[in-house]
Amino acid sequence: MTVTVRFAPSPTGLIHIGNARTALFNWLFAMKNGGRFIQRFDDTDVLRSKQEYADAILYDLHWLGIFPDATDYQSRRFDAYDAAVEKLKAAGLLYACYETSEELELKRKIRLSRKLPPVYGREALKLTGEEREALEVEGRKPHWRFLLPNFRDNPFETERTEIQWDDVVRGEETVDLASLSDPVLVREDGTYLYTLPSVVDDIDMGVTHVIRGDDHVTNTGVQIALFKALGAEPPAFGHHNLLTTSTGEGLSKRSGALSIKSLRESGLEPMAVASLAVLIGTSESVTAVPHMSELAERFDPEATSKSASKFDPAELIVLNRALLHQLPFNEAQDRLSALGVSGEKAESFWLAVRGNLEKLGDAVTWWRIVNQGPEEPVELSDKDREFVNQAFDMLPEEPWDGSTWKAWTGAVKEETKRKGKTLFMPLRLALTGLASGPELADLLPLLGREGTLARRP
Ligand code: GLU
Repeated sequence: MTVTVRFAPSPTGLIHIGNARTALFNWLFAMKNGGRFIQRFDDTDVLRSKQEYADAILYDLHWLGIFPDATDYQSRRFDAYDAAVEKLKAAGLLYACYETSEELELKRKIRLSRKLPPVYGREALKLTGEEREALEVEGRKPHWRFLLPNFRDNPFETERTEIQWDDVVRGEETVDLASLSDPVLVREDGTYLYTLPSVVDDIDMGVTHVIRGDDHVTNTGVQIALFKALGAEPPAFGHHNLLTTSTGEGLSKRSGALSIKSLRESGLEPMAVASLAVLIGTSESVTAVPHMSELAERFDPEATSKSASKFDPAELIVLNRALLHQLPFNEAQDRLSALGVSGEKAESFWLAVRGNLEKLGDAVTWWRIVNQGPEEPVELSDKDREFVNQAFDMLPEEPWDGSTWKAWTGAVKEETKRKGKTLFMPLRLALTGLASGPELADLLPLLGREGTLARRP
């Protein structure tokens, strides 16, 4: 069977780096196994879900390098969920409940005071047809619970029922169904909670591996029971640890700060974001991986730690620099060209400056410095100005190449007896206006003799 995974966010906001981790775990898993990746939007909550968020999520995924093989929306599949509901009802596995949330809360408190686990006591199962009718006449609408298979003959005598699976990420996992309340699958107003539609989709879409955050471990126990109740073989499951902010708070789609969009707009490379999103919180070292295929080689779900992992945006800059440092011109060319960095000098310019950039967009500043001169007027002491003029008088004739700088400054050193910083710093300042930057040996041929002389202080 073809490995089939899915990424299933609700389109209720922008995805953040934690969501990207889930998407990438799925994408890399599919890549490693020659599998398919389905983009599924869990938009049964029609009020909070928005097409613009779904579109933004697809855009973010593409930017990261994820290209789904198929896309689907739960809001288009209500017929399938309705059919599953009928099937469960017919099997006596979905039952109507009429308690209000206040009544449920009271029941919970009573159970706790009797030292019973605070799970739903299945009181609604005891209702007779007449009682149900009376409640409906009163105007009450039922919500529907799935009868968990955690008892032998009598649903009021539950017993430890272990659901076990070999988690793709966490290894052996167990959930005891007797520790859980029968989950509500359909609300009073007829809307679906996520639990059932997800299972119906996973069945219909042939999903073989469900890889998601470890906040879903308990759901998995319930959902495995649902797969079986619907007559389907459950898929394999994997639950990765979650990312938190550097102060330990959970990430939320509502807080835009660490959204993929904001990271993109801040000028980061997608593979810097992807490398961190995948490698953080694993036993792999976090390094900048330039291509998705290499990240797939590094990706090992079993190497993922079981505890939450703090995510520090400052690490992204470190990775971004490392990526730019090794980014070949042909991979940067189109984006540089869009920034106005093009022409015959563009490649040697890129090779000269890439090691000094934090973001690719910073190349523009250097392009201006190379082509137009220092951004700010250069301040030199009288002595240094005199020295620079003297040095400029000694500039060799063209053609210039990577060895010109050494030959020139060697001769200047000989003549002026200046050395080290006193020799190089005034020249660097005169040429670039900045006290640090790319190797001058690489910049000098880009300035050319004329361009250099135009910087005479
Ligand atoms: N919509 C669910 C979520 O975003 C999907 C969970 C799952 O992958 O099954 O948490």
